[in-house]
Amino acid sequence: MILLTGGAGYIALHTAAVLIETGHDVVLFDNFCNSKPLAVERLAAIVGRPVPCVQGDVRSRTDLDGLFDQYSIDAVIHFAGLKAVGESAAEPLRYYDNNVGGSLVLLEAMQQAEVRRIVFSSSACVYGEPDASPIPESAALRPANVYGRTKLMVEEILRDLQLAAPGWSVALLRYFNPVGAHPSGLIGEDPNGVPNNLMPFVTQVAVGRRPQLQVFGGDYPTPDGSGVRDYIHVMDLADGHRAALDWALRDPREVLTANLGTGQGYSVLDLVRSFEQASGRAIPYRIVARRAGDVAAYWGDPLLARQRLGWTARRTLEDMCRDSWNWQSRNPQGFA
Ligand code: NAD
Ligand code: UDP
Repeated sequence: MILLTGGAGYIALHTAAVLIETGHDVVLFDNFCNSKPLAVERLAAIVGRPVPCVQGDVRSRTDLDGLFDQYSIDAVIHFAGLKAVGESAAEPLRYYDNNVGGSLVLLEAMQQAEVRRIVFSSSACVYGEPDASPIPESAALRPANVYGRTKLMVEEILRDLQLAAPGWSVALLRYFNPVGAHPSGLIGEDPNGVPNNLMPFVTQVAVGRRPQLQVFGGDYPTPDGSGVRDYIHVMDLADGHRAALDWALRDPREVLTANLGTGQGYSVLDLVRSFEQASGRAIPYRIVARRAGDVAAYWGDPLLARQRLGWTARRTLEDMCRDSWNWQSRNPQGFA
């Protein structure tokens, strides 16, 4: 049985669908601070059977001990976390408590339950402003915000733990920009309030929930002046977790740090054009000032994940836009 903390969230739901379809049993664990129980019912509809989901908080040792008593867990994929960069600057204690404190409590509970295989949701945020792209895993780590520092701290905790207790197998996955949705259109990204991220903002403009997109910066040193990122389809990301989990289940007893990206950069305006084609909807936009803290351009080097995990992203920007639109057009108000 594989435990997915933060299991009702965007990336975990898609990962659960892939894991179940490849023969794994999963149990989800979530406090629903950024997700809804309905999402788990949708996952069950996709896989054709109920998916166990326990409500609880990773900061609660009582909740976790109960979970490890109830289920025989072979490995954990630790998705639970808060992820809004701006909010992390305004509420640093909440972010350190939830992301770092929660991870510590989880690791203690795992150690007690003798579960020593973990796949951790890290982020390309740990690199901060890179010297060059594509970014290899060996690049300097200098996160530019509180959120990124919480991810780097948990990476370091896991490295220290594995040094002290070499029985542990640890995969640190640094995601680039996840977008897209399951091809069924039953699950997808459903942020609370005004989306911080580009794709959900674009899809909400397309369904008429927002009048226009603001493009943050038109004067970057990029081909069209807008920011460039490595967008990765969430189903490819899910498959990367399947590969990392299979690696951990072989008990390699080491730490593997891998980028999960496509290795390709696209600009904001590339994405808008591709989305317009995929959806047949016009996306009105206005170029405004740069967003504080944004980097002009970066994308990941996916070579190590290919060599060590045998995993490569396969889906195109067109696939990402088509599936994001399929999800949002079928669910204009998300899971509401
Ligand atoms: P999400 O918010 O959809 O999912 C996170 C889930 O964790 C939510 O369902 C939330 O309710 C749950 N959660 C949060 N704190 C919890 C706690 N203390 N106890 C139990 N459950 C808790 O976000 P996502 O996009 O699916 O991200 C999953 C993970 O991947 C996060 O750790 C995030 O930081 C990381 N990540 C996301 C991105 C991205 O752009 N989406 C990029 C890099 C890394
Ligand atoms: N972006 C934008 N308008 C928005 C949201 C984002 O122009 O409403 C740009 C942002 O400046 C960056 C890219 O889209 O160049 C991706 O931003 P996002 O917040 O999705 O991810 P990040 O790379 O910041 O993690």
